[in-house]
Amino acid sequence: MNPRYLGPVEAVLVAVILLLAPVMVALHGGTSPMSASGGEDIATRLAATDGVDGDKIINADANPGDWLSNGRTYSEQRHSPLKAIDTSNVKDLGVAWQFRTNTVRGLESTPIVVNGVMYVTGSWSKVWALDAKTGAQIWAYDPQVPGQWGRFACCDVVNRGVALWKGAVYVGTLDGRLVKLDAKTGKPIWDINTIDRQRPYTITGAPRIVKGLVLIGNGGAEYGVRGYITAYDADTGRQVWRFYTVPGDPRQPPEDAAMAAAMKTWSTGNTDQKWWEQGGGGTAWDSMAYDPDLDLVYIGTGNGSSWNRNLRSPGGGDNLYLSSIVALRPDTGELVWYYQTTPGDDWDYTATQHLILADLTIDGAPRKVIMQAPKNGFFYVIDRQTGKLISAKPYTTITWASGVDMATGKPIENPGVRYGKLPSAQVPGPIGAHNWQPMSFDPQTGLVYIPVIDGSFIYAQHKELSYVPGAWNVSDFAQLGQMVLAGIEKGQAPPPFKGFIRAWDPVAQKMAWQVEMTGAWNSGMLTTAGGLLFAGGSDGIFAAYNAKTGEKVWSLDLKTAMTAPAISYEVDGEQYIAIAAAFGGSGGLGATSDANTPVMKNGNNEGRIFAFKVGGTKIVEPIKVEGTATIAPPDEKVDPVLAKKGFDIYHRNCAVCHGVLLASSREVPDLRHSSPEIWASYSDIILGGALKDKGMASFADILNKDDVAALRAYTLQSAQAEWAAAHPKK
Ligand code: CA
Repeated sequence: MNPRYLGPVEAVLVAVILLLAPVMVALHGGTSPMSASGGEDIATRLAATDGVDGDKIINADANPGDWLSNGRTYSEQRHSPLKAIDTSNVKDLGVAWQFRTNTVRGLESTPIVVNGVMYVTGSWSKVWALDAKTGAQIWAYDPQVPGQWGRFACCDVVNRGVALWKGAVYVGTLDGRLVKLDAKTGKPIWDINTIDRQRPYTITGAPRIVKGLVLIGNGGAEYGVRGYITAYDADTGRQVWRFYTVPGDPRQPPEDAAMAAAMKTWSTGNTDQKWWEQGGGGTAWDSMAYDPDLDLVYIGTGNGSSWNRNLRSPGGGDNLYLSSIVALRPDTGELVWYYQTTPGDDWDYTATQHLILADLTIDGAPRKVIMQAPKNGFFYVIDRQTGKLISAKPYTTITWASGVDMATGKPIENPGVRYGKLPSAQVPGPIGAHNWQPMSFDPQTGLVYIPVIDGSFIYAQHKELSYVPGAWNVSDFAQLGQMVLAGIEKGQAPPPFKGFIRAWDPVAQKMAWQVEMTGAWNSGMLTTAGGLLFAGGSDGIFAAYNAKTGEKVWSLDLKTAMTAPAISYEVDGEQYIAIAAAFGGSGGLGATSDANTPVMKNGNNEGRIFAFKVGGTKIVEPIKVEGTATIAPPDEKVDPVLAKKGFDIYHRNCAVCHGVLLASSREVPDLRHSSPEIWASYSDIILGGALKDKGMASFADILNKDDVAALRAYTLQSAQAEWAAAHPKK
């Protein structure tokens, strides 16, 4: 039965059956082996995970129908050798199946596919094994992350995927655990803690497994943690090594030679500011790559904790190894070389962005390179054996530096870019010119495809000049909010962020072509040997482009935003494309209300995994849920002085999820549209943690009753103003 040849009524019926398939399987109990039409049964398919190991991943091209590791290969090129779908037949691409995750927060997962079984993660670190041919659920695993931990997730309660190794699935959980699951049943084999549970660490990244060691880092630098990456024995979970990315307490002996060297680049400057109490940052929360020939594993590190160097290292210094690429020996964690993209970072210019290994011909000579487009706006091509910079050019507009000095490898900072008494407006901002969304390298075109963000940000110093444990220790979002508000009142709203796909020639260091997207926060990239680039947008449109020219050759409105990258795989001789869809992540949470997003149109952010094949259905319905109508806010008199105080408290503690000036992206509730029950329960929620299981944590450790009253005054004042504007008195 091929849906391509069906009439509209039949096509709808097929679509309904496809939609119901996961539900029907769930009713029959997910773990029993099922017969997949026309192929092996699921038990046989699942057995193939036993054979996934280093040799298999190194030789990934021998099994082009699988997607064995986060970036498909250790080189993380995110290029599929499959070519049954190409520029001539992509016009007939449609939905093969979809799977509802029943989650409402961000999805950033790269699915892993082995022999027709897909392993994919969702918000709150949930994991599903699906029949990659039908979308039927084989098993589901929920690590039961406490909702309270959502407060420590700067950038949503997301997860970027699992790793597979010898019949087991490995997932890092938001609350800092590493869990090994039986790939056939989803049952936990071991569940270990990787963090100091007294500090606000999170894990959102996908583990990578190299030489039998599971590598996992963590996040938390916006709050205050010390970054590190740890290697655990894949069999036993025993810790084999840990590499810290920044030095600890200088009164203690350094852990290793790398920390002894780094210590010299941090300074308290005769103040009582102690970076080791703030954490220092440098968290390795996402990117890794591995070169088996050079036997080097590459890790990207993040920003400082606190953001501002004046707070964490007032004596100055480069603050190694913040915002760096570090090359480590996989057996020992020993540092072999490092390259720091942003010395003495002040701007959240992380270098945790996607790392790609490739062999390029540069000036007539073959070079083994590592490539990165970190937040700071420069595209780096580095010799991956030595760490020596080959070239660096801006891939978008930047204001903070005029270039990179090829002699020192350091950026040439423009005057006045650091902020202290005066704020500093820069491009890019902390969201970066490119964030975590993976790029792709297409060996056929020789191009790297970058999801680029264009936007400015005002950095400002905390007035209090102090670090607050467990709180946001970034630049002053309250000052930012006030400056934005003052601008709006003068008719000068900040220009909206823009998003692009840029095809970048890494040898010539110049753009080959670009496509402007509807919004700024879009999906990661996939290229295929069919000559195609696949990418999705915050507007819900999933599209294919000619990888050489940028011509759009296919698109489908999924009525669900995408930030995750797509993958490609094959089952029973047929090629599929798949993507996890839902709005989310820092740019999803932090985005202000945007009428173009499906979240706003549908009134919800229900997640789903889509798979596509030639001849699939082109009918995609939005997921509608009830109960999103707005109601009038309480008709109370608000004290404007209290509301002003609430403005500052809100922007320091709440705006990162609920939106600047209360304009939420609707991934989490817009507080202006609260129910009477919520308006009556501010204290119970903010101090008592009444909604902590839903991810709204208690803030009783940093806010008090007076703060809550001020917060409520601010939100109510705004809600009343919005309601009055929408309902003018007759
Ligand atoms: Ca950061």
